[in-house]
Amino acid sequence: MSENQSFDNNSNSIYDVIIIGSGLGGLISGNILQKKGNNVLIIEKNDYPGGYYTSFKRNGFNFDVSLHWTGGCEEGGIVYNILRKFKSENCVEFIKLNELYHWIDQQNYIDFYASTSLPEYIETLVEIFPKEEADIKSYFDLYCNIFDPTVIKRLSKKKISEIINPHFSNPIIKNVILAPLGFFGWPPDDLSAVFSIAFSTFHFSQGAYYIKGSAGAFSKALADIFIKNGGILKYGTEVNKLIFEGKLISGVITKDTEKIKKNYYSHVVIANSNPTLLINNLSSIGDLPSMYAEKIKKREPSLSAINLYLGLKIDLKDYGIKDYMIWTPLYRDRNSDDLKEDLYKADYSGIPIGSITIYSNIDPTCCPEGKSLISVLSYATPEPFQKIYDPENRNNEKYTLLKNKIAEQLIETISKILKIPDLKSHISVMDLATPITFGQYSNNPRGSIMGWQMSVEQFTNPLSQKTPIENLFLCGQWTTGAGGLPSVARSAEAASKLAMKYLKEKT
Ligand SMILES: Cc1cc2nc3c(=O)[nH]c(=O)nc-3n(C[C@H](O)[C@H](O)[C@H](O)COP(=O)(O)OP(=O)(O)OC[C@H]3O[C@@H](n4cnc5c(N)ncnc54)[C@H](O)[C@@H]3O)c2cc1C
Repeated sequence: MSENQSFDNNSNSIYDVIIIGSGLGGLISGNILQKKGNNVLIIEKNDYPGGYYTSFKRNGFNFDVSLHWTGGCEEGGIVYNILRKFKSENCVEFIKLNELYHWIDQQNYIDFYASTSLPEYIETLVEIFPKEEADIKSYFDLYCNIFDPTVIKRLSKKKISEIINPHFSNPIIKNVILAPLGFFGWPPDDLSAVFSIAFSTFHFSQGAYYIKGSAGAFSKALADIFIKNGGILKYGTEVNKLIFEGKLISGVITKDTEKIKKNYYSHVVIANSNPTLLINNLSSIGDLPSMYAEKIKKREPSLSAINLYLGLKIDLKDYGIKDYMIWTPLYRDRNSDDLKEDLYKADYSGIPIGSITIYSNIDPTCCPEGKSLISVLSYATPEPFQKIYDPENRNNEKYTLLKNKIAEQLIETISKILKIPDLKSHISVMDLATPITFGQYSNNPRGSIMGWQMSVEQFTNPLSQKTPIENLFLCGQWTTGAGGLPSVARSAEAASKLAMKYLKEKT
């Protein structure tokens, strides 16, 4: 039994709700349901909670796997209000960011701090691009009105490129404005206009935060509260099949790390695991209506990532580097077809990095004093890794060689950005996550990090938390909304409401 696994003294009874997966979605809906007096079992294949919202320790460095910033965490915010439903709004410290990122475009000599206040952000852009003042102001008018139903209706079928291109002929400013969007779809200017603008305005209204102690500390706190309130959380246990009884689900079949099979029964099942798994592995042909299965099969996941984790022997503040996040241009001077080609070759001398995050500058508890912790995030597609990765072979020499080559390329790039030519000699811990890593730990298709691509088609036809099976619901980044804590929290809240409604009416 792992460290904070709860004891199941209820194993012969029927649970009100079984949740597959203890990602943020599973933990939040589990907590809401448990707090409302339901009897909830969460089943998690890993031996820790949180899914992507986790961290790992190496030689005194506590690496955050995913979180860079999130929003809505202070009183009145979206996340705060949902956590309050189970008295967890203060379960961790949310550190407010004064600015979202430091933008460094060395090629075009552009260097600025992106404010989390919209008027200040616009003012900065106007200072840098004075000739575009009128275009900038008219473009950002849309940002202020994006939640107006008539604006949503007018833009609902448009790509962001159809909105941004008529405003700006200068690709450099487009690079700046589209920067936060790359992981939601590729190429980034194929994304839905409504989604893109709503996402890009989010931190202006809801603030931007990091979580002290890492995303892993947050997930652990949510798991502890769930268990304290009487919930059962089983780690190291994978759900392999749903048990169908007529048109309903009556439970799940699991396998633990010792390969022992066990059935658990419930009135409701919520899948926090991805819906592709639901149709390909967890059910058999005919269990789910074929139209529903086809709808899921046709959907495209968003991009995966490369994440380089570095523990440094030096304190970057001694080198004058005090930033938390540094962002660089997504396209540079290349078009997205060229970049796509580089992604398929996994050639990171050509692929721009999305961000350099210096966690030790915002949360010094993440590493020993006098040292620094960095992560470098870039885009990736699984094909070049899948081609050479053999899950049966522990050595995987070709895969390791490719990982080392990518790490070298990224280190070379960030040495130039940080202006520390001998950065490599200061590394004491290094690890690199690829789409294979993200896929293996989460079961998410193609190691996608943000759920479905936010194309016009997929954004306007979201996958609801409801399914055609009356007592099966979905929660998490694959449902209405997208990746990231605020939308996953909303999805979890919606799924728990649907589950409670079902339990009240039908059982
Ligand atoms: C590199 C990276 C950077 C990111 N940056 C940010 C950021 O800055 N801010 C932000 O808010 N978000 C960020 N995200 C996105 C965010 O982490 C995710 O959107 C969110 O954590 C998804 O939560 P989830 O509950 O939907 O799913 P997941 O985290 O995918 O959790 C699903 C859970 O289900 C479990 N599971 C799957 N199949 C089974 C099964 N058969 N049986 C049992 N258990 C199963 C998995 O093990 C996992 O624990 C980032 C993600 C990544 C990977």
